[in-house]
Amino acid sequence: MVIGRHYGQSVTVPLWGIAISGGPQRILVDTGVHDCAWVDANLGPCKQAPEEHLDRALREYVGWGVDEVDIVINTHLHFDHCGGNALLPYATCYIQTAEWDFAAAPLPTQNPYYYEFLIGRESLDHFRWRFVSGILDLMPGVRIFPTPGHTPGHQSVAVKTGDGIVVIAGDCANCMENIVDELPVGIVHDTAQEIASLRRIKKIADLVIPGHDPDVRAGSAGIELRAKLKHIERENPVPGPLG
Ligand SMILES: [Zn+2]
Repeated sequence: MVIGRHYGQSVTVPLWGIAISGGPQRILVDTGVHDCAWVDANLGPCKQAPEEHLDRALREYVGWGVDEVDIVINTHLHFDHCGGNALLPYATCYIQTAEWDFAAAPLPTQNPYYYEFLIGRESLDHFRWRFVSGILDLMPGVRIFPTPGHTPGHQSVAVKTGDGIVVIAGDCANCMENIVDELPVGIVHDTAQEIASLRRIKKIADLVIPGHDPDVRAGSAGIELRAKLKHIERENPVPGPLG
């Protein structure tokens, strides 16, 4: 979760899909896993309760059918962030070109996260995708912006809401601690880029939905950053550099 910390501790983490409602189009950011049973047997413990299935969660939390989602934004193409794309027949999917390219030929350290069958082959039809390079203002108040580091083409989403700017971080931040202490996630492709991306989020966000933070409540707009900054700095001070 956080590089260099909490070794040996076991933690159960959520895989979030985030609905952006209230605009002219129905948007979903990240879509969870495609084959939980295979992941559970082969990669690591993975459980999905019936009410956590994408179709049921969408219906119960947001009131949308799977055939009503217009747009999917995938923060990146790791299997636990795009597995549900296959369930959304009419959605157009947005990804950074750099992420698409890396997914086709990842480094060996990230190979298992990009297995094609875990993403769902049927969801990879080229014509479903829109390729983004850099910042894209998808519509007023919804901005896609690059946050590379965890993967080369990782992106996050900033949403202007009545409660402030919500940043859907994806795996740029597994949990708030990554942002507060500017410490990368455990799986990292480029450490310098990752830290720059964390700082970018820290600068602009009022609320954050990290990729796997157990403290995010289902149905909420994320975790308030400023309150967390004070709390974590008090509980867990970071020592300064040498000299
Ligand atoms: Zn990831």
